[in-house]
Amino acid sequence: MNPDIKKIFFAGIFLVAFAVNAQNETYTSSPEVADTTFVNLKEYSDDFIYDMKYATADNFLKAKVYDCAECMLRYKTVKALIAANKEFMKNGCKIKLFDCYRPLSIQEKMWEIVPNPEYVADPKKGSIHNRGGAVDISLVNAEGTELEMGTNFDFFGAEAGHNFKKLPTSVRANRKYLKSVMVQSGFNSFDSEWWHYNLKTGLKDPVSNQKWKCD
Ligand SMILES: [Zn+2]
Repeated sequence: MNPDIKKIFFAGIFLVAFAVNAQNETYTSSPEVADTTFVNLKEYSDDFIYDMKYATADNFLKAKVYDCAECMLRYKTVKALIAANKEFMKNGCKIKLFDCYRPLSIQEKMWEIVPNPEYVADPKKGSIHNRGGAVDISLVNAEGTELEMGTNFDFFGAEAGHNFKKLPTSVRANRKYLKSVMVQSGFNSFDSEWWHYNLKTGLKDPVSNQKWKCD
C-alpha cells in the first residue's frame, strides 16, 4: 500500500470508530425533558388521587368534554406539584386533582356557559389551564376522604373565595393549609376559587390546543 493511501485508510478507520462511539453515546444517555414540554403526571408519580370532572358529566357544563381522564401539564408544573404532594404526605394527606391542562376549545365552551371573568377565563386571553401551568385541586386524608373546603369544586359564588369569612374554623384551616403548601411550592392562589393554583413561572407560556392520547 502506498504511504498516502495507508494514511487515508487509517484515518478512515479512525473516523468510523469515532462515529460508532458517538452514536452509542446518543443512544445510551437518558433524554432530557424540557421544563415546558407537556407530560402526563401519572408517568412521574403514583401518589395522586384523580377525580377529573370534565371527563364526566359531573361539572357545570353538564357534559363530558374530555375523552378520557388524564392530567397533562408542562414538566415544570409536574415537578412543583410532586414537591407539594410530598409535603402534604408528611401529614397523611394527598392532592386530589379535578383539572389540569385544558385545551383552548374547552375553554371556549366554558366561556359560552359562564361569560364572567371572575369564574372563567376569557378564551381570547386564555387561562393558565390552557398554558399547562394551572391545577384545580383539593386534599384527601389518609382514609381517602376529601377534606371539607366549604363548597364543591366549581361552585360559582362568594363562598368559594379565599376571603369569604363566614365558614367553620376547620374549613378555613383546611383552605389555609392547602394554600400555604402550594404557595411554598411555587404556585399562586386565585382569590375567587379555593381549588385553583397557577404555577408562578407558567403565566407567560403560550396557550395550546392539543388533545392527549387515550388508551
Ligand atoms: Zn382552575
